[in-house]
Amino acid sequence: MPILTFDERALSASFGYVFRTRWLQPYESIVGMLWKFARMNRLPGHCVVMHLRSGELDPYAGIEPFEVDVPVVARMLGITHKRVREGIGNQHPHVCPFLRSCARCMSLGYHARVHQLLRYETCPIHGQPLQASCRHCHRPCAYRLNALLIDAPFRCAHCRAYRTHTGTAPTTWHASLPARDRTAITRAALGYPPATGSPVTNSLRRRHD
Ligand SMILES: [Zn+2]
Ligand SMILES: [Zn+2]
Repeated sequence: MPILTFDERALSASFGYVFRTRWLQPYESIVGMLWKFARMNRLPGHCVVMHLRSGELDPYAGIEPFEVDVPVVARMLGITHKRVREGIGNQHPHVCPFLRSCARCMSLGYHARVHQLLRYETCPIHGQPLQASCRHCHRPCAYRLNALLIDAPFRCAHCRAYRTHTGTAPTTWHASLPARDRTAITRAALGYPPATGSPVTNSLRRRHD
């Protein structure tokens, strides 16, 4: 375990922490990014949260995603500012204050920023309902960057049950999504309607039949 100095540069690649851009899927949420970073470097959640912004910060209370210091996080993860901003999105009232997830995406080790948008009731990739609470304890988890959530990758932050399709750990943390799925999530992130023949279009059609 490396010695942690809580210097804002201490979690950068130059100190031996790793993060690979190829671990990220399109529009991966800031939560998904930090889950992978913490997991791959065996870092406790409070330590990661302490490095999201300079200045005073209670890692257990945490901060809102839009409160992170983008250049600091980009340097920590070794990715572009644009990529961090894509994972944060805009601050507006149509973002769910609780973690929303697609169980099938979570099984793939993926949480998209799009999943937080209230205009989507279903996953743009799988067409399955987005879940805003845990299937086991039924409690919602605040969509907030705090130690509790970062310490529970792809799980409920309260009872720590996996929020995956199978109820077990994701089978992969960073395998690339198929091209069709990448297109589906990108269209949703940009606000375009789903492509004809996608699972979402098919499920909408079924609902209206
Ligand atoms: Zn999905
Ligand atoms: Zn739970």
